[in-house]
Amino acid sequence: MRDIAAHVPYDALVIMVNHSRYGGGGIYNFFCTFTAHNQWSEYLLLHEFGHSFSGLADEYYSSSTAYNDFYPPGIEPTEPNITALLDPTNLKWKQLLTQGIEIPTPWNKKEYDRIDSIYQKRRRELNDIITRLKKEHAPESQINAAQEEASAHSRKFASKMDNFLKKSKYAGKVGAFEGAGYSSKGLYRPMLDCIMFSKGKKPYCKVCEQAIIKIIEQYSK
Ligand SMILES: [Zn+2]
Repeated sequence: MRDIAAHVPYDALVIMVNHSRYGGGGIYNFFCTFTAHNQWSEYLLLHEFGHSFSGLADEYYSSSTAYNDFYPPGIEPTEPNITALLDPTNLKWKQLLTQGIEIPTPWNKKEYDRIDSIYQKRRRELNDIITRLKKEHAPESQINAAQEEASAHSRKFASKMDNFLKKSKYAGKVGAFEGAGYSSKGLYRPMLDCIMFSKGKKPYCKVCEQAIIKIIEQYSK
């Protein structure tokens, strides 16, 4: 792949996978990859690019694809967009904080987690159904219908959560919100929402944006 890519000047390598199944990954300074034929493809590209281009961390903490204890407790993660908040007065994004905001920033996490757990449960059920249908070599129409139901479920949840977060009095503010880096407790993200936190058409949070600008300048100045 690198031998082929070397025929043109490039800074970042993106591998598009011709597949409809949801998925992707990105490793800092290496490459990112994403599936190009599903409803979240645009989001996937931008999210995975955040990892590979700027070394951003995942800000989500409840997905079934998350890892346990990825970040050892008591150690500050190296990524620019999550923190263990070991020294709240010296937060790594302190220049971007909304003036006067409480640290850690209280948010409606309990309600978010409640809705999320209902979604995750149904998501697992739907995925199990799809796996079973495939194993049993069920008719394609039946598999497609199940996959469409799973897609619709994911879409509905994403828009519900977008609205939920937008309604919060902390929407658009920079603070330290608990729940980040695959951990519900002890890790914090800069804003309520970000493309590194949830799926959908949305911007990077201000901290992620600054991290991306820094790398662009590193390449271009
Ligand atoms: Zn972010």
